[in-house]
Amino acid sequence: MGLYKYKTEPLLDFTSKEVLQKYEEALKFVGGYLGKTYPLIIDGEFVETNDLYTSLNPADHTQVIGKIHQASIENAEKAMESALKAFETWKKVKASIRADVLFKAAAIIRKRKYEFSALMTFEAGKPWPEADADTAEAIDFLEYYGRQMLLLEESDKLTLSRRNIERNEFKYIPLGVAAVITPWNFPLAILAGMTSAAVVAGNTVLLKPAITTQVIAYKFMEVLKEAGLPKGVVNFIPGDGPEIGEFMVKHPKTRFVSFTGSKNVGLSINQTAATPQKGQIWIKRVIAEMGGKDAILVDSDADLELAAESIVKSTFGFSGQKCSACSRAIIHEDVYDEVVEMVKEKTEKLTYGNPKDFSNFMGPLTDEKAFNKVTSYIEIAKNEGRLLTGGTANKEMGWFVSPTVFADCAPNSRIMQEEVFGPVLAMTKVKSFQEGIEVANNTEYGLTGAVISNNRFNLEKAREEYHVGNLYLNRKCTGAIVGYQPFGGFNNSGTDSKAGGPDYLLLHMQAKSISEWL
Ligand code: NDP
Repeated sequence: MGLYKYKTEPLLDFTSKEVLQKYEEALKFVGGYLGKTYPLIIDGEFVETNDLYTSLNPADHTQVIGKIHQASIENAEKAMESALKAFETWKKVKASIRADVLFKAAAIIRKRKYEFSALMTFEAGKPWPEADADTAEAIDFLEYYGRQMLLLEESDKLTLSRRNIERNEFKYIPLGVAAVITPWNFPLAILAGMTSAAVVAGNTVLLKPAITTQVIAYKFMEVLKEAGLPKGVVNFIPGDGPEIGEFMVKHPKTRFVSFTGSKNVGLSINQTAATPQKGQIWIKRVIAEMGGKDAILVDSDADLELAAESIVKSTFGFSGQKCSACSRAIIHEDVYDEVVEMVKEKTEKLTYGNPKDFSNFMGPLTDEKAFNKVTSYIEIAKNEGRLLTGGTANKEMGWFVSPTVFADCAPNSRIMQEEVFGPVLAMTKVKSFQEGIEVANNTEYGLTGAVISNNRFNLEKAREEYHVGNLYLNRKCTGAIVGYQPFGGFNNSGTDSKAGGPDYLLLHMQAKSISEWL
């Protein structure tokens, strides 16, 4: 079992001068290759199209990160042909060899970790520690899924319920071609996790990354090639979501869809995938990880410093652009005024600006669409709650919105119900812990949630009644670790899958039972 021991990738220590200097050097190194042009990759071949997307730095509209050729439907069809062909051989490759590709990819990223993080600072607007956590999580996914596959291979060798008249086997086999559609907010970790899970399980992939972070996605393709992944196993077809993404989902030869993104797109993918197409001979499986409206519930007897710190960190880390981000603080009336004041004070101390400067805790929003959405929610919330701090925005150089807090919001108000996906917190007062649980559960989502309490009875109550996929007691509600806190939500937060958990790879496979009469 020692062979399968899994250790998480340590985070960088940003109090070290050497680390800071290495990050500065990486920013310079990546700065040297900004503006390059990147092709599609189909069947291992570089493919250029006449349609180029320009990726810009969200903190500085004048800086071009790269230009990426965009796939047409014809390109996507070719990618499908390539993935179908590659599946015939890849599915027969020994699981341990497939796992080895993941371990090599992890080692390559580990060697280039500063570069990957610096690229995310440029293309995704990630502050240094956030980018480093993203890179570390990508490495963790590769290491963890590789080991999970080794365990599955091991269990495949077991013979079930042997009787002297027959020999029974039970084994997991791959599904086929996966449509992998990824988000921009963890442009390396989630992309690497979703792609590698599909591949290590023996499937082949059409990969469509989110439009704003395609250069990072291309760099991951470079890693897969260097790690020895055969051509055609992952086909890189960046392109427009509603066009290329939908084509991939609809295609009769797509066996399953692996999607992370918003609720609306996830629901529409689920519906499209459920409609059989001409020539389709299976029911498509959908693995979808979607949005959240995550809350931190503060009890009357609680460490209030821990509560305020957890709320502020979970709300404003990466400008609130995490599906796990806290966007509601539900506080017992006995401590409400005190916690509101502490949260306001801590929020006002946060720095924000271009994340190329380490001193900025928060960077920009990802693009104009996000900027318009978040600022419009701030306007809505001004009529629903009391603006405590923030509420300003500036799009001159980049998509910046200040850390914003609203107090006294009604549980059913839009700011307490709808996913904003930005640095905006809504706070509400409750009369009892029981009411707090009811308010916490009162949305269509169920992704993450936290409780800050010194009351053992209430902590146990939360374990039972707080209906979220990832519940945290006496800590923040962001920062799930692969293999330790398998991640994924209930209700309209997704299909109840758990990325980085022991049953995740099984979602990418089907079980075959073979019995031989003796
Ligand atoms: P979107 O839903 O906008 O996009 C996700 C992906 O879907 C992108 O690649 C996008 O392409 C593609 N897409 C868009 N329209 C279609 C379509 N009609 N058919 C097929 N594919 C399509 O989400 P974001 O990228 O904005 O990501 C943020 C969202 O992701 C938030 O809601 C967040 O909560 C959620 N999320 C959930 C996580 C979880 O684990 N539960 C983790 C991380 C994020 P394009 O970019 O070209 O539009």
